[in-house]
Amino acid sequence: MRLDIRGVSRRYGRMLALDDVSLSLSAGEILAVLGDSGCGKSTLLRLVAGLDEPDAGEIHIDGRRIAGRGGGEPPETRGVGLMFQDYALFPHLTVLANVRFGLSHLPGARARTVARERLAEVGLAGRETSYPATLSGGEAQRVALARALAPRPRVLLLDEPFSNLDAGTRERVRADTLAVLRQDGISAILVTHDAAEAVEFADRIALMRKGQLIQCDTAEALYRAPVSPFAARALGDVVTVAGLASGGRLATPLGTVALPSSGPDGAVQVCLRPEAIRIVPRGEGVPGRVLRRNFAGGSTRIDVEIPGLDEPLRLTAAQEDHVDDRIELGLVEGRILVFTECESA
Ligand code: ADP
Ligand code: MG
Repeated sequence: MRLDIRGVSRRYGRMLALDDVSLSLSAGEILAVLGDSGCGKSTLLRLVAGLDEPDAGEIHIDGRRIAGRGGGEPPETRGVGLMFQDYALFPHLTVLANVRFGLSHLPGARARTVARERLAEVGLAGRETSYPATLSGGEAQRVALARALAPRPRVLLLDEPFSNLDAGTRERVRADTLAVLRQDGISAILVTHDAAEAVEFADRIALMRKGQLIQCDTAEALYRAPVSPFAARALGDVVTVAGLASGGRLATPLGTVALPSSGPDGAVQVCLRPEAIRIVPRGEGVPGRVLRRNFAGGSTRIDVEIPGLDEPLRLTAAQEDHVDDRIELGLVEGRILVFTECESA
């Protein structure tokens, strides 16, 4: 299986919901589409599923064009499975009948056998004759997964499927779902606005903003080499400060260091993850005043006021760090993310 989304755009009136998005998914791969509400995630899935048509661009599965100029394939022949937030099991049908629903192309006895197998796969053997109203949220979600997987789709699309579950259930159902997908080597796209969920679930993360694909890479690459301050903020805390690049050196309110990469001299934005800032011995760094301390188990969260910074820095101090009211901070070379103004979106 290979899914190729090529230069796809979709406009609703004056709103460009998707702006020239290209992505691909290979066999057995799980991709997370991460972005804020309204950035176009569901629109992208609807185009792949065939519930909507792109205004520009094409979508291919295994080299076959399923969407694009001149029309595409109908949803039922695309081999695409769907699982949405409001998973909407049919309340008047038993669990087994719900799973059989997508198997109408099979003879009755065969459909029943396959549906039972799928239910067993998601850990619901024995619940075949239950009705949806008697299931917990997590169980209902697993029935929805079994139903979506029953026809053996080539790719499964998951649109924020866990966001209606309470926190404890969500983690478990998410882990169970992931285990089923991995076990069967199912290719999937998970839409989420939750960065932690994207990191846990996916091989790669496609970060979106306002209809555009910002960056698509592994979680580690996104964390270590984001293309912009926006991308840097998407996966974890960052503090952004102004810097001045000149002759291979970078001057910041937190000290001057060697520039991590060559680039033009001038004003830059410097993004600092917590591990890029450390508490240094007196006389070796930039002095700051500790405004607040918050106990955080094995570490302490501190807010530090630094001359030249508009806002206090929020840092995590290790247990062994001695945190007086006055401390000195330094930068950790090699951990600093530098962006020019034109990369600042
Ligand atoms: P997300 O799933 O990331 O929250 P959507 O893909 O649902 O975002 O929507 C992207 C943008 O397109 C939003 O601004 C939304 O209001 C708009 N939109 C989505 N579907 C329609 C539609 N059928 N008609 C008009 N506008 C739509
Ligand atoms: Mg959505």
